[in-house]
Amino acid sequence: MKILFILPYDNTYKYKGGFTRAISYAPLTLSVLAALVPKELGAQIKTIDEGIQKPLTDEAFDIVAITCVTSSAKRAYELCHFWKQKGSYVILGGVHPTLMTKEAAAHSDSVFVGFAEETLQEFFEDYIKGRPKKIYRNESKCRYLSMPFPRRDLVSDKYMKIPTVIANRGCQNRCSYCSVHKLWGNTGLTRPVSEVISEIQALKSKRIILLDPSPTSDEEYAEEFFKALIPLNIKWSGLSTIDVVKKNRLFELMIRSGCEGILCGFESVQGESLKAVSKSTNNIAEYKYAVDEFHKADIPVLGCFVAGFDSDTKESLLNTIDFIDHIGIDLPRFSILTPFPGTAMFEEYEKNGRILTMDWNMYDTMHVVFKHKKMQTQELYEAFSQMWKKAYSVKRIIRRLKNTRREKIIKLGANLGFKYYAHKLRTIDNQM
Ligand code: SF4
Repeated sequence: MKILFILPYDNTYKYKGGFTRAISYAPLTLSVLAALVPKELGAQIKTIDEGIQKPLTDEAFDIVAITCVTSSAKRAYELCHFWKQKGSYVILGGVHPTLMTKEAAAHSDSVFVGFAEETLQEFFEDYIKGRPKKIYRNESKCRYLSMPFPRRDLVSDKYMKIPTVIANRGCQNRCSYCSVHKLWGNTGLTRPVSEVISEIQALKSKRIILLDPSPTSDEEYAEEFFKALIPLNIKWSGLSTIDVVKKNRLFELMIRSGCEGILCGFESVQGESLKAVSKSTNNIAEYKYAVDEFHKADIPVLGCFVAGFDSDTKESLLNTIDFIDHIGIDLPRFSILTPFPGTAMFEEYEKNGRILTMDWNMYDTMHVVFKHKKMQTQELYEAFSQMWKKAYSVKRIIRRLKNTRREKIIKLGANLGFKYYAHKLRTIDNQM
């Protein structure tokens, strides 16, 4: 049996050159899926990550498995039709098919709703018997779910060399624009800590990147995990909500576990906006304190900000950059507010006639896909584009480097990578 796993091309790749790719981490999706293929099938497995590899068209496969997010859904559907015509059995899963199951089902032979750790096994059994189902829905409610070690041997070496690991896919917060809690619920796929630790040990790497969307929201799990990381004496970077600095015991464990870099969603510097999207973890009055606490622990902060909340104006967005300077973010990153299908925000915007397009290619957080309350579409895009340019002016890059206490060269690389990204954003590129 021959199986092909595909991560389809996504708009976001077009902003990445070889340099920015080299500072991007390797996604785990394909290697996790490949590891879920039962060994007894003796299958020949290939993976294609279209962000860095050419599409494969001249071979035949029995099964083609495609995983997509909203911004790669159109490309995924194109691939479904291509491979179906070639006689393959095509299965589709991932974030978008989970939240838009009916739509995904129209393009594929089988759709996977939720995580595939259990349902993929079931599918292979059904496929062998010649009776695969149309929809495989993960109904598991268990707190812990094991996952085989990802097939990292199949991952391209064009990405950053630091290996990626995932322990918990859930989040206990309820931000209205986010699909994480819709997808995985409160606890999501929480792997047994001992299993994650064994995987990290097997990597024999002194550094890892943790891909958990919200590693500190499940405090009990996070404490257990951080405690288990301490004896490994490794360094890790990953995501976190900023309120972790107020949770003394957890924060201390986070530092002792080897955290060396954090990506935080600050989102906005206007309280009204945070309240409107239920970002309950953030308090603007504490932003500077939070960044200072991370810095005291020698943890640089990559801060994410969103343009397009209802209370935003062009002026307030550009002023955000001065605020970012004030609180001392090491690397700022910007995206345009995107109401992803399946989220509470999408439902609300759709009900109010504010969704401008259902062209999923545009749902890449770099296009305006909804009607803003105060700004014209082009005006919002222009403000977003100028935020990048202002934040990555030479003057600001130098200032950030001067303030950095360690690993200036990595920071310089990251700053230049983002400057390149800012440069590649076209000033007016909204194609509405
Ligand atoms: S804290 Fe992060 S992962 Fe959790 S719901 Fe909010 S945006 Fe999503």
